[in-house]
Amino acid sequence: MKRFKEKTVVVTGGNKGIGLAIARRFGNEGARLAIASVESNVVEAARSLEDEGIAARGVVCDVTDKEAVRALYDEAEDAFGGVDISVQNAGIITIAKVENLTEQEWDSTMDVNTKGVFLCCQEAIARMRASGKGGRLINTASGQARDGFIYTPHYAASKFGVMGLTQSLAKEVALEGITVNAICPGIIQTDMWDYNDKVWGEMLGDYGPGELMASWVENNVPMKRPGSGADVAGLVTFLASADATYITGQTINVDGGLIMS
Ligand code: NDP
Repeated sequence: MKRFKEKTVVVTGGNKGIGLAIARRFGNEGARLAIASVESNVVEAARSLEDEGIAARGVVCDVTDKEAVRALYDEAEDAFGGVDISVQNAGIITIAKVENLTEQEWDSTMDVNTKGVFLCCQEAIARMRASGKGGRLINTASGQARDGFIYTPHYAASKFGVMGLTQSLAKEVALEGITVNAICPGIIQTDMWDYNDKVWGEMLGDYGPGELMASWVENNVPMKRPGSGADVAGLVTFLASADATYITGQTINVDGGLIMS
């Protein structure tokens, strides 16, 4: 079933990892995609989606730059007409003890993970309002929006922020046919987790490559496996689908049971 036929979807951080899996799932269900990232390999990522029969544009865009964000949505509209669904997935993480955490790390993490989500929502809402057709916004938070982990206060704060802005925007646009929800992935196997595994692993004990993730999954994830981008894409596409019309302002975990609140 092509749930997203004729729909235009923007996915930030769409060149790899969770974002690319989300884009692919939307594309396989009929959507046209504008995917964005800082790295220019987003253009190749879009081409590879096109090779799979998915209509896709790759746009170089730093989500912390308001003008670049505007240009991203312009390009999506010019290419495909209108923006129906926007997935604010771009994110960064660093890990450091509080005495070593720099102001620059704090600022850049808040800029990408929280301000970047806001700028994209702002742009998407303006276009959804102008079209009069409503729309769907899905913001990527994290398990760290539920329960801050050690050595990442800046990341946890940025993701708690995503939850707050999701709730506030959801109330503001509720009468305009626009829903705004957030998702909290748990331990998802991507480049980001490779970094987490290495740096947390070294800081928390004598863990070799992959051992920290394996240990956390074994001890803390009831389903006893890490998640995949496809697991996250299933939730995102549900929230963007006709089945989720009456769901807004929610933050939903997708983590194999890691966090149950
Ligand atoms: P990756 O590191 O694999 O991908 C991050 C993506 O964000 C890349 O596409 C990257 O683009 C993009 N990005 C970073 N900074 C910017 C920016 N300034 N402007 C535009 N794009 C940017 O991470 P994941 O796929 O694992 O993570 C995706 C999201 O899921 C993030 O928000 C992350 O915080 C969240 N998350 C991930 C979890 C996990 O276990 N993996 C758990 C919980 C949440 P580029 O390659 O160009 O830098």
